[in-house]
Amino acid sequence: MIWCDKCDRDVDVGLLSPEGHCPGCDTWLADSRGRASVPWHFWVVVAAAVIYLGWRGVQGILWFGQQLL
Ligand SMILES: [Zn+2]
Repeated sequence: MIWCDKCDRDVDVGLLSPEGHCPGCDTWLADSRGRASVPWHFWVVVAAAVIYLGWRGVQGILWFGQQLL
């Protein structure tokens, strides 16, 4: 939660605009989703998972092809 002086209320981080502006008065409050985004090593894990699943997908297609022979 981030306090907005202009609206005189708490604003949930999830309600902020992608640039971190208040949904009520459009005052800049924080680097909401940019600063709070996932760390770089998360994307390493995602890339590894995508490569692994892609490889498993290729293996599955090759296996399927072998069943047709
Ligand atoms: Zn506001």
